[in-house]
Amino acid sequence: MISELLPTPRLGPHPDRPRHRTLTSPPHTPLRPVWACRACGHPWPCASARLNLKAEFARQEATLTIYLAGLMYEAMHDLYHLNPNDGPGPRDLFTRFVAWGPFRRSIAEEQ
Ligand SMILES: [Zn+2]
Repeated sequence: MISELLPTPRLGPHPDRPRHRTLTSPPHTPLRPVWACRACGHPWPCASARLNLKAEFARQEATLTIYLAGLMYEAMHDLYHLNPNDGPGPRDLFTRFVAWGPFRRSIAEEQ
């Protein structure tokens, strides 16, 4: 059957950004399935990853938002499989992955 020959599609974008690299430390990309930064161990996206992503996508803000939303979906999948009863909630993951990005609301708009 031909469907057995085709590769299984990925669920979302491949988490290979930010692409900023140094010679002495690993990149600030997520280590799956726990979604911790492979360089500093903080929950991804860590502060360095956010800074590098902002620089990398400086002229592509919509693309950054779509990339982050896709990774949020992948993280939900991984983290709920790891811990289905006590994993992070959707609001927490949205705040962590998407809300810090270029299209966030200002505090003044929420009143
Ligand atoms: Zn990091």
